[in-house]
Amino acid sequence: MEYRYRCIECNKTYDITPDLMLCPVCSQRKKADEPLIGILEVQYFIRDKSFSYDKFLPVEKEFFPKIPVGDTPLWEPENLRKKFNMPNFFIKDDSANPTGSFKDRASYMVAAFAIKHNISDITLASTGNAGSSMAGIGAAAGLNITLFLPKNAPRAKIVQALQYGARVIPVDGNYDAAYKLSLQYSKINGSLNRNTAYNPMTIEGKKTVSFEIFTQLKKTPDYIFVPTGDGCILSGVYKGFKDLVRYGFADKIPIIYCVQAEKSDAISQAFKTGKFQKIASETIADSISVDVPGSGYHALKQLKKYSGRCITVEDREILEAQKQLSETTGLFAEPAGATAFAGFLKEKDNLEKKAAVVILCTGSGLKDTASAQQIIQYPDYAIKNIDEIEKIIDLDNK
Ligand SMILES: *Cc1c(COP(=O)(O)O)cnc(C)c1O
Repeated sequence: MEYRYRCIECNKTYDITPDLMLCPVCSQRKKADEPLIGILEVQYFIRDKSFSYDKFLPVEKEFFPKIPVGDTPLWEPENLRKKFNMPNFFIKDDSANPTGSFKDRASYMVAAFAIKHNISDITLASTGNAGSSMAGIGAAAGLNITLFLPKNAPRAKIVQALQYGARVIPVDGNYDAAYKLSLQYSKINGSLNRNTAYNPMTIEGKKTVSFEIFTQLKKTPDYIFVPTGDGCILSGVYKGFKDLVRYGFADKIPIIYCVQAEKSDAISQAFKTGKFQKIASETIADSISVDVPGSGYHALKQLKKYSGRCITVEDREILEAQKQLSETTGLFAEPAGATAFAGFLKEKDNLEKKAAVVILCTGSGLKDTASAQQIIQYPDYAIKNIDEIEKIIDLDNK
């Protein structure tokens, strides 16, 4: 099998090399505060017809680090199925990845790519998860990771990255500021940049979730709900199904819901107006808090082409969805991880009851317990004696 980069704008193809991130021609058109232009996708040229889709990756198996990424479970949550009368409702739980988030799919691919090309240093910007993920996968792969992230990222994510041994550089600013600094730094020291959407291997790694969903369901689902910030997961989900259809394994692309936080909704806005406007994002779901979505144009183009839909949810709806998911299924997601479920709750009455629906859970709730604490009663007392229990629990009503 052969593979090449193809520019999603001009269709020109390029050899895959570590220094090429965007189409050198199309990327010139990008203005400040605008999503990336000239994103490169991997195109495969297959001679052997017996090829199976799980081998559709641009790096050979032997280069992947020995850490079990992907193959995450597809839950069949009985309580929710009954509650909504939707027997084909599924949750793809990517919080089950080694570092607790979907980002491991991209980090795993980037690490393999680095190893194949004898690169030992990787730099990236992150809202938290991409960084802790690259740090963890990098630890398994023996790579040096430098991470730029907003100084107010959830503490657990910073601790996680430090535990794995990454060099962590807090940025006095938001993700967009960290993004710029990381690009400058990789230029100075010549490290491979893993920034989401910018490095083509990120979309290529993320597409594996679609292969797994397709394998687990034995078909393409009707709907997939994707929590969206930069739009790179969304583009990855599309890429997986595009590959499956293009090479004859699947017969359709699912309808994809791009679910965004109400105040971090650049892609949803552009879906309506056709234009990207710089926003000042603000949401409790830190992992999808983005001003200028890197994969914005790419995501938008595919949403339009494949009849995708956009919905936004308020922070309160995210927190309530998070709680409902926890107490009905046993799956505790971080706020961004519960955002697809929040979008589903808003949209479910518009879906056919029999439809095969998958929501992506992208990150673990243990990564940000401070947010989850906002709508639970955290006990502010402690007891010593069993007699004291009466003050707390109404025993007669039990
Ligand atoms: C990164 C992330 C997302 C969003 O992915 P984008 O590619 O930025 O759209 C959603 N949920 C979690 C938990 C994430 O870490």
